[in-house]
This record gives sequence, structure tokens and C-alpha cells, in this order.
Amino acid sequence: MGSDCLFCRIVAGEIPATVVRETDTTLAFRDIGPKAPVHVLVIPKEHYADIATLAEGDRALTADVLATAAAVAEDEGLLGDGFRLMFNTGPYGGQEVFHVHAHLLGGAPLGPMLARDLA
Ligand code: 5GP
Ligand code: ZN
Repeated sequence: MGSDCLFCRIVAGEIPATVVRETDTTLAFRDIGPKAPVHVLVIPKEHYADIATLAEGDRALTADVLATAAAVAEDEGLLGDGFRLMFNTGPYGGQEVFHVHAHLLGGAPLGPMLARDLA
């Protein structure tokens, strides 16, 4: 992927980001348009389009993303009150950037899981 992918460009250092944690395989940085007091994106450095492709392609890397998200949640003081971790996937999921990313959200009550109920 590389130059066409926004998050690959952040991994490459071509686009600045506020990085809060980095491992050999993952990067965590603050969302540019935060939806909560804490809103961090956690990505694998290697390009996968979405969580389904990542989970199918590399189980260890999937686990690395989750472990980094949990470590950031602890760093940000979210373990006591809780947080939300989500992967928007595909058009119905509202995914806009097609480099898999976990949204780590917290720091205040987040309200219902979805803006509206079914039915
Ligand atoms: P999605 O809708 O794909 O799940 O979420 C993409 C997220 O990436 C959005 O929350 C958006 O604010 C964030 N985002 C888009 N462009 C940038 C950027 O250049 N830098 C950072 N840090 N976040 C971005
Ligand atoms: Zn990418």
C-alpha cells in the first residue's frame, strides 16, 4: 500500500501524528477529530484494510493491536471507569480510512452503543 494510504503515511512519518505508544508492530496516536476526551487510534504498522482481513491474515498481529489498545487504556487512566474499543468496518460500519484501526474511546460516559435503536 504505502503512499496511497493515510495511515501508512503516518507510520512512515510522512504525515505528523500525536503518537502515544509505539511497538515493533503497532502504533497508537490521537484521533484528529476526537469524539471523546480520550480518542486514540491503534493500528498495525503493516497494512491491512480492515479487522476481518487482519484477523484472517495474522492472528498474532491482531493480538498485538488489542494488547497495545489495552496498554494505552491503562496509560490514559481508563481502566477504572471503562472505555469503548471499536473497529468500524466497511460501508455499513462507517469506515472511512481503509487501514484497519481500533478506536479507543473514554474519559467520560459514552452513552448508548449506537445513536439509534433498531425498530
Ligand atoms: P473510520 O471512520 O475509518 O473508522 O475512522 C477514521 C478516523 O480517522 C476518524 O475518526 C478521523 O477523525 C481520523 N482521521 C482521519 N484523518 C486523520 C489524520 O490525518 N490524522 C489523525 N490522527 N486521524 C485522522
Ligand atoms: Zn495503510
